[in-house]
Amino acid sequence: MKAALFDRIKHFTIIGKELPEIKGNEVLIQVSKAGICGSDVHAFLGKHPFRNPPSILGHEIIGNIVEIGDKVTTVKDGDTVTIEPQIGCGHCKPCIKGDYNLCEEKVVLGTTSWDGGFAEYVVAPEQTVYKIPDTLTTELAVLTEPLAVGVHAVNIADVKKGDKVAILGSGPIGLVTSVAAHFKGAETICLTDAIDNNLEIGKKLCATDVVNVRVQSLQKYTSDNIGQFDHVFLTAGYGSILDDALSVIKRKGKVISIALFEEKVSIDLNKFMISEVQMFGSSMYVKEDFKTAIEIIASHRYKLESLITHRFNFDQINEAMEVALSKSGSPIKIVLDYIKN
Ligand SMILES: [Zn+2]
Ligand SMILES: [Zn+2]
Repeated sequence: MKAALFDRIKHFTIIGKELPEIKGNEVLIQVSKAGICGSDVHAFLGKHPFRNPPSILGHEIIGNIVEIGDKVTTVKDGDTVTIEPQIGCGHCKPCIKGDYNLCEEKVVLGTTSWDGGFAEYVVAPEQTVYKIPDTLTTELAVLTEPLAVGVHAVNIADVKKGDKVAILGSGPIGLVTSVAAHFKGAETICLTDAIDNNLEIGKKLCATDVVNVRVQSLQKYTSDNIGQFDHVFLTAGYGSILDDALSVIKRKGKVISIALFEEKVSIDLNKFMISEVQMFGSSMYVKEDFKTAIEIIASHRYKLESLITHRFNFDQINEAMEVALSKSGSPIKIVLDYIKN
């Protein structure tokens, strides 16, 4: 099979590789589409904490099962599936509580310990595989994994019907978080960004308000039009983002960080004491989030196709990464297509 080996920083080489063998509890999946994640781009630049070369990246995967192990019972040959790209150890405290996303021993797809889906075939244990309903295109289904990140964050925030939510940063994770918040009943959803194109996509999805922070003050817009927010999500790792959040959060409001920061940021802790603001982190997702993400996509309530801005053949992965890096054409989600004509 062909695989895109992440052999060094800023480089993939398409190599020939033995078709992987499966164990009793595993399935072999022929990949049909893969999304490029922000974390793949961080890895490509050598700035990701644990995605390092040499490895096969790729964890936003859709494909068809072509072989199942003899212990597999819940899926079968031919099923179209996506993969939840993490496996907890199963016996540490977080795993026992169901918080296996926080397991210190967990294995993650697209790392040196589990070959990812930037390859024609990928192996996954049965418990990580989710069937995709027939009513979904494989292209939309590729959004399951990033959407699950938003669902988990919204669950941690405990967004309720009628809540006012701000999402700072309208890249892929900011946009899917807006959808997850809307699905949970948030009534006011304010997206910020410095790129109009991203905000336009946000409006197509479900944003009620958008603020281009390059031309408008978020604080002024909020006090003129909305009032303070119940929840503020941080989805972009820039230095002053927490100050921005604290300028618009209400008393006892919740700030939830889903961003990957390259540097430490300073915090005005007085605001936390005086206003009893609460701060949470949100890391990946768990099974329920993944199921909700599939449910949201299958509801066809949102124009999620507007998130997919670029498509490349799998062989063109280096070009696709260049677009992701240069941001030419304002990419949101870049999808690799594996089906040969
Ligand atoms: Zn991802
Ligand atoms: Zn564990």
